[in-house]
Parts: sequence; C-alpha cells; structure tokens
Amino acid sequence: MKQYETVIGLEVHVELATKTKIFCGCSTEFGGAPNTHTCPVCTGMPGSLPVLNRQVVEFALKAGIAANCRINQYCRFDRKNYFYPDNPQNYQISQLYLPICQDGWVEIETSAGKKKIRIHEMHMEEDAGKLIHDEWEDCSLVDYNRSGVPLIEIVSEPDMRSAEEVIAYLEKLRCMMQYLGVSDCKLQEGSMRADVNLSVREVGSETFGTRTEMKNLNSFKAIARAIDGERERQIELLEMGRAVVQETRRWDDNKESSHAMRSKEDAKDYRYFPDPDLLPVHISDEWIARLKASQPELREEKQQRYQEEYGLSAYDAGLLTESRILSEKYEETADLCGNPKKAANWFMVEVLRLMKDRGLEPEQVTFTPGHLADLIQMVERKEVSAQNAKKVFEKVFEEDIDPVSYIEEHGLKIVEDTGLLEETLQKILEENPGPLQELLGGKEKVFGFFVGKMMKELKGKASPDAVREALTKEIEKRK
Ligand code: ADP
Ligand code: MG
Ligand code: ZN
Repeated sequence: MKQYETVIGLEVHVELATKTKIFCGCSTEFGGAPNTHTCPVCTGMPGSLPVLNRQVVEFALKAGIAANCRINQYCRFDRKNYFYPDNPQNYQISQLYLPICQDGWVEIETSAGKKKIRIHEMHMEEDAGKLIHDEWEDCSLVDYNRSGVPLIEIVSEPDMRSAEEVIAYLEKLRCMMQYLGVSDCKLQEGSMRADVNLSVREVGSETFGTRTEMKNLNSFKAIARAIDGERERQIELLEMGRAVVQETRRWDDNKESSHAMRSKEDAKDYRYFPDPDLLPVHISDEWIARLKASQPELREEKQQRYQEEYGLSAYDAGLLTESRILSEKYEETADLCGNPKKAANWFMVEVLRLMKDRGLEPEQVTFTPGHLADLIQMVERKEVSAQNAKKVFEKVFEEDIDPVSYIEEHGLKIVEDTGLLEETLQKILEENPGPLQELLGGKEKVFGFFVGKMMKELKGKASPDAVREALTKEIEKRK
C-alpha cells in the first residue's frame, strides 16, 4: 500500500461570554426554559432591527490580537441565506467579505516539538436555535434561546497532520480563550464546537486531495476517533481507484463511522450580501492600542514567570497554568504562605487528586487560598504533622473550613510538651519488653518500630523528629 499523509483544517465555533446576545438584549445564559430568552429580534420577526453588541467586537478583537491576527479596521456583516427551522430570519448574520481578524497563527506543542498553525480568519456571527427531535411524539420542536448568541468562527489553514496536532490546537485555543475571558469553551455544552475538514494525499505530493467536512463532534476523544475513521475511509476509496466526494458528513461516535449529510455547498449557494440593517464597523487605532495594552497575561507568559519568580520546573509551571482559574488560586496561595514550591506541591498532588476523585472542573473548586496557605505554614512550623495536614486539607477543600481553629479544636496541634512525649514513651517501652531488649542489644531496625508506635499513639501531636530524639536519649540512658 502507498504511504498517505492526512491534511486537516478546522473551523472552530466559540460562543462568546457576553451577558446578552449579539444583536438584542436577551440573556445568553445556557439552559433556561425553552424560548424564554427571546424577543422579536432573535426570533426573526419582520420589522425588528438588530443592534450590534459592542462587547462582541471587543472579545473578537482580544482573540484576534492573542492569535497574532491582522485586524480589519473596517469590517462588515453579511447575510448568509438559507432556510432551516432553527434559523428564524432565513439568514444568518455572519461575515464573509471583510472578517474582523485575518492571517494569524498560534503555536502548538506535540511530542514532535513546536509547530505553528496558521489562522486564516476569525469572524463574528450569530448562533442558531436548537431543534429537538421528539421521536416519541413524532414531531420536532424548536428552542430559540440560543438564537443570536454571539460566536466567533476561527478558521485554520490546512496545517494539521494528525489527531494529536488537532487536539493540541484545540486545547491551545480553549486555553487562550479562557485566559482572555472571552469564552468558557465547554465542548459538552457546545460553547466550543469544531468541524473537521480532512483530506489525504500520497506522501511527497504537492497538491491537496479532496476533503470532506465532519460535523457533530463534541469531545476531544470523538474528534480523534472521527479523524482516524475518516482517514481510513478515504484511503480505502483511493486504494480501490475511486474518488473522494467533497461533502459534509456526520460522525456517529457510537457506531464509530460517518455518513454523508449533504453535498458541499459553496459560498455562492448562500447568496451572501452585506446586511443592510447594520452599519459597517470601524475599529479605531486607539481602541486596538487600548486592548493591546490591557491584554491579560497568557499561559505561556505565566509559565515563564513561574519558572523565573517561583523557581518551578517548566513541567510543574505547565501543569499549574493549564487552567487560568486554578493558576490564580495557586498564585494567591504561594504569595500568602511565602513558599511557592511547597504550594506547588500541594496543588499538583492534593488539589489535583481531590479534583480527579470528585470529578470537579476548576471553576467548581471553591476553597479560599488563604486557608491552604495557613495550613502550609503550620506544617512548616511543625505545628501539625504532614499526615494530619492532608486530612485537614480535605475539609478545607470540601467545606472551606478555617484550618487553624479546626486543628486547635480537634487536638491535632503538635505539642512540644515533653511531658506527654515522655509519658507516652515510657508507656510504649513498658508495653513492648521484647523489642526493647532487642533494641538495647543493638538491633537498630527495632528503632523504627518504636517510632511508628509512638506516632500512632500521639496521633500526630508530636513531630517525628521530636519522637526520634526522645527515644534516642532514653535508649542511651538505659544502655
Ligand atoms: P468553506 O468556506 O467552503 O468551508 P474554506 O476554503 O474556507 O472552505 O475551508 C474551510 C476549512 O477547510 C479550512 O479550515 C481549511 O483549512 C480546510 N481545508 C481546505 N482545503 C482542505 C483540504 N484539501 N484538506 C483539508 N482541509 C482543507
Ligand atoms: Mg466552512
Ligand atoms: Zn432577543
């Protein structure tokens, strides 16, 4: 068999995190009873007029600047005409001729190293409503709550060559949007959606093969499976001497196969024309300059800073910056306890473990960083054992309790009270005459046995160091 290369370009839709829709004042909140976030504009009533939401333009600009795009300072909205029940105007307001951002790139990292993926354009558009097919009642219902929710569509050049690169690119975009505060990019809720354009060609060939477009992909795993499935399907066709048909296909993740939805439509099929209800948008130099100056720190910069300021490894800094929300919690903890490395360990071990155990997303983690910082300091001052601190942290993580008073109240504080230590030591030695003889006879291994017994008895109220010291002294005395 010949060697084939996969060529992939993505069209990614990202729902913008504005409070209201792109052309009316309706709420963009996810969920809600059907057709309650609607008005004459977003249900396409004749005579209603759209008014552009300034925040949408600002978010699109932020995204474009972060992705190294050229900004079209004079841009326009166009009507994309098609009939479908989830689209009440019979056209979608989008941008074809003069999209707001063009010719950018983002850098991805895969096992093979770093690579630039070029971005053809980013344009603003409105989302459609949702059709709900009720097979039981044999009818279809429509919910216009999503109609008019602002989107940016990010169109890449066909620069990706594998599922790994595609996932890395999507993760990069998602992380960037989250850091910018432009979108939460939840694949399950559909606030980030990717259409995969894929073709194959013989290795060494200069020209691209015919591509298909796959829709209905709502998880990274589904995307990876769809890419492998479609690649195999196209290679099989070519090997049989048949041609790949340019079409839109729907991936069925349960069956792990795709089927043709419709033949590929061209821009001309949509009879695009500038929307006469909306004025062109002029973006001033001053606006761009202001946004550039106020652009937040993105992940790569943060990762760099953690290495320089906190002395963390690149790997640790990478892990801690994966989510903006978590990185902010980490930073606050690190600054408050004054020990960034210890704080990093707590996050990478305990916080991530508890999140995984309980299946929580970063935004669902609600403990106060100051509480973890207090706990870290208590461990450092040897006021609580590391083991007890971990248990107390579970309480902090779950109920955000104040660890200082909790430790006091539950008698978990290490008492440097030698009376208790002395008492316990004598008791343990008395209870274990056999091992004591062995220890006195020079059997060093038994030392650990006594330390363990002591720690258990003291329930973390003394530090292992103090226990070791007391035991050594006592044995010397008895020898
Ligand atoms: P359309 O607007 O008709 O969907 P575009 O030319 O804008 O088509 O391309 C859409 C997407 O398809 C882009 O992400 C692009 O990178 C990708 N693409 C175009 N040609 C190919 C190809 N031969 N193989 C894989 N992807 C392709
Ligand atoms: Mg397209
Ligand atoms: Zn509305």
